[in-house]
Amino acid sequence: MNVLDLVRPELRELRGYSSARMEASGGRVLLNANESPWPGVADPEGALQRYPDGQQPQPLVQRLASLYGVPAANLLVARGSDECIDLLTRATCRAGLDAVLVSPPTFAMYAVCAGIQGAAVLSVALDPARGFVPDFERLREVALAGPVKLVYVCTPNNPTGGIASIDAVLALAHELAGRALVVVDEAYAEFAAAPSLAPQAARNGNLAVLRTLSKAHALAGARIGALVADAGLIALLRRLLAPYPIAAPSARAAIAALAPDALAATRLRVAALKAERARMAQAFARLPGVREVYPSEANFVTVRLDAAAATYAALLAAGIVIRDVGGYPGLEGCLRFSIGTPGENDALLGVLARRERVA
Ligand code: PMP
Repeated sequence: MNVLDLVRPELRELRGYSSARMEASGGRVLLNANESPWPGVADPEGALQRYPDGQQPQPLVQRLASLYGVPAANLLVARGSDECIDLLTRATCRAGLDAVLVSPPTFAMYAVCAGIQGAAVLSVALDPARGFVPDFERLREVALAGPVKLVYVCTPNNPTGGIASIDAVLALAHELAGRALVVVDEAYAEFAAAPSLAPQAARNGNLAVLRTLSKAHALAGARIGALVADAGLIALLRRLLAPYPIAAPSARAAIAALAPDALAATRLRVAALKAERARMAQAFARLPGVREVYPSEANFVTVRLDAAAATYAALLAAGIVIRDVGGYPGLEGCLRFSIGTPGENDALLGVLARRERVA
């Protein structure tokens, strides 16, 4: 069965918008896209005068494809992986009929996008007794029993930090072929020891992988995310995407970040962050009132404490903002700490140590 069978029937024939830049590019005198003939008054070099070249900036698509080890035809670039999640939901879920399947506590956007689309959200909780790993057996049962179109596996998972077994993900994609697409969210993959499933997603129609430049590549403000999936599905999603989604400055920043020397520097940063993550996890574990430090393969550590609210307030009073994740199911009393620079991490530990002395 083809993965396009999972797409809403009315979208399969949709042609999508044909923009001026898609129809013709190059040329010396550009009078085809109703742009200003002059550079903007605040943009004298004209860096922003024109629409970007095409809907998918090809140099960026090429670099992302080589970074993730996949053919360019299998990769869609969009405004963050957030937009890829939204596109997948809109493409596959019929309002009032279809559902997505998530493993809470996990990234909230899967359910938000489903809600916007009018799709149901089914849940199979991560197993806290086994370090918050997905319950693949139950995921398979629930996906096969109902109108589930997308099954999300977030690995490393936000906000718990653990990773899913690659073999189990591949087995799930195989078992759900033709029934539901398995979407592996690898937003934090650079910080994990496990290899990416992106190359498999380019070969296996029933697997899709989300990647982003927001985390390890330090480009959250540029909003660049990628989806790796079946080439037919990627072509269809391009037709649903806005004509010029990637702002020119964002494409330029991303292309620069993917140059070989920049990638080498990023790898050093990732290694430094992982060392800081280990240091912070050890420091958290030594603090009184800390009940559990969840092993993390991401760029954050989630901790369960006796006095989460007071700790959050003390840090905020010191100007340090962390994330209270106590509202997620199964994470009552938990705080999530993004790993900062060594100096920021020292400042955080300093506040926690002072609280300890006062208590
Ligand atoms: N997936 C996960 C698991 C995330 O934690 C985030 C951001 N917090 C995203 C996707 C979205 O990332 P972006 O849209 O910046 O690519």
